[in-house]
Amino acid sequence: MDVPVGRNPMFVYDEQMTDLIFDYCRWRLSLDPVPLDYGGAWDEPLSESLEGLITPEGVDARRVMEVFDKKLANAVVSVDSPRFLSFIPAAPAKAALLFDMVVACSSLHGTSWIEAAGPVAAENQALAVLADVAGLPEGAGGCFVAGGSAGNLSALMVARDTAGFRMGDRAPERPVVAISEEAHSSVGKALHVLGVEPLLVPCDDHRLTGSLLEATLSSHPRGGDAVAVVATGGTTNAGIIDDLAGVADVAEARSLWFHVDGAYGCAALFAPSVRERFAGIERVDSFVVDPHKWLFSPFDCAALIYRNPQLAKAVHSQDASYLEVMHTGAPEEWNPSDYAFHLTRRARGMPLWFSLAVNGTDAYRDAVEEVLITTQEVADLIESMPHLELVRRPELSVVLFRRMGWERADYEAWSAQLLEHQLGFVVHTTWEGQPVGRLALLHPDTSVEMIAEILASTA
Ligand SMILES: *Cc1c(COP(=O)(O)O)cnc(C)c1O
Repeated sequence: MDVPVGRNPMFVYDEQMTDLIFDYCRWRLSLDPVPLDYGGAWDEPLSESLEGLITPEGVDARRVMEVFDKKLANAVVSVDSPRFLSFIPAAPAKAALLFDMVVACSSLHGTSWIEAAGPVAAENQALAVLADVAGLPEGAGGCFVAGGSAGNLSALMVARDTAGFRMGDRAPERPVVAISEEAHSSVGKALHVLGVEPLLVPCDDHRLTGSLLEATLSSHPRGGDAVAVVATGGTTNAGIIDDLAGVADVAEARSLWFHVDGAYGCAALFAPSVRERFAGIERVDSFVVDPHKWLFSPFDCAALIYRNPQLAKAVHSQDASYLEVMHTGAPEEWNPSDYAFHLTRRARGMPLWFSLAVNGTDAYRDAVEEVLITTQEVADLIESMPHLELVRRPELSVVLFRRMGWERADYEAWSAQLLEHQLGFVVHTTWEGQPVGRLALLHPDTSVEMIAEILASTA
């Protein structure tokens, strides 16, 4: 590359390097299906592959990409493979992935209206679609954050700090937040960060209900100190949706902030077949859903939506002389930094926005429904296999099953063998104290046949 005199070489357009990278991206996008690869089971020491790559003079891009392609890119378990069935996978739509490159190449950020009105307006259009499927009134809004964890923390900060506004003199000095035994670990962690104690509510068949919440709040010595309740719209371990309407009743009667953690499950708000199970979600004060999970976006993208964003703004706006200019009072002005604990942020909602626009919301409905159907078929299949036992009928897209006679070590050995043969990435979980197999689906290309092949190897 020729660097014109007086120019800093890092900022000169390099045609060759651009081709190198774009060719790689084109190839990766074209993989169908995406292979699983090996993750930490990759058997070469990565530190050796990386040795000597960062030097004072810099290394040729082709050599660096060669190392990435041959050594690093295979040392992942590809979360977007339809055979990735552990934890919560990801299934980014091609349109969303492509637009992520636009976000990157344009350095699109979305911190404030004065710097980024265009991207922020588009992100808000995507947020409005999500608020609408949840049945929230017009005026609801928020911002995209890095993940469900960041969303839960930001929402609970508002819940804590606005208790006085809701409860007046009854606002407790040392607030607690009611959460269920099945709440995601990030909720407990958020409360720890906030210095707020959790008040653990027992579940009925792994589900938080209004009556158990009320019973706990009225009997526990700290029950009167509750300022908020967190319900889960699809637990991570088993895809169970709490009794949102019952919880909403209790929250309303006690002036509690009602937050729903729907990081995984609230994508199913798009699916008419299960929409009724989320009844009550329209009464939340805030909810979180991760488009990087089941709404086909690349990482990292979580939507945080408030019924009344003004309350969030009162809590999260940062006061600093160098930020004063951000608040201009323009009619359309919306500063995403006012709605979570972050300041600078990537316009991470744009890939979702583009994908919603080009694919249409019907495509989202159909893709989620397709996964729900596959999940039910997988459950039927498990029920038909004599050496397997279905732990419970799946409500969303997580299937728990038991292999008769297997201990934890057997599940582990099976899992390693599946990965070695590139059949699937399946890890076990714990259910009622026992190890069980867990399949988490969310890629529309995950087929019953693929899972039949995986399950056949348990025989
Ligand atoms: C995944 C998940 C989270 C955490 O979300 P991140 O995006 O990983 O931060 C929180 N709650 C639930 C229910 C989840 O499934």
